[in-house]
Amino acid sequence: MRNNTCIKCHSSKIVKVGEESRYNNAICINAFKNAISTKYICCDCGYFEEYYENKNDREAIYKKFKE
Ligand SMILES: [Zn+2]
Repeated sequence: MRNNTCIKCHSSKIVKVGEESRYNNAICINAFKNAISTKYICCDCGYFEEYYENKNDREAIYKKFKE
């Protein structure tokens, strides 16, 4: 998806929706920060993938949620 081709239908009508999406999945890292995900949405078939693209966010998620 991140190379602009849908893995389901092979369409190239992929849009990237990041922090501008109000209903994005946010993970609370601490009182001051949320990790915001980025979605890649296929506008032909509706399939989407979602990534936490900020490496610092991923590190914080790992530290918070690992056992
Ligand atoms: Zn598709």
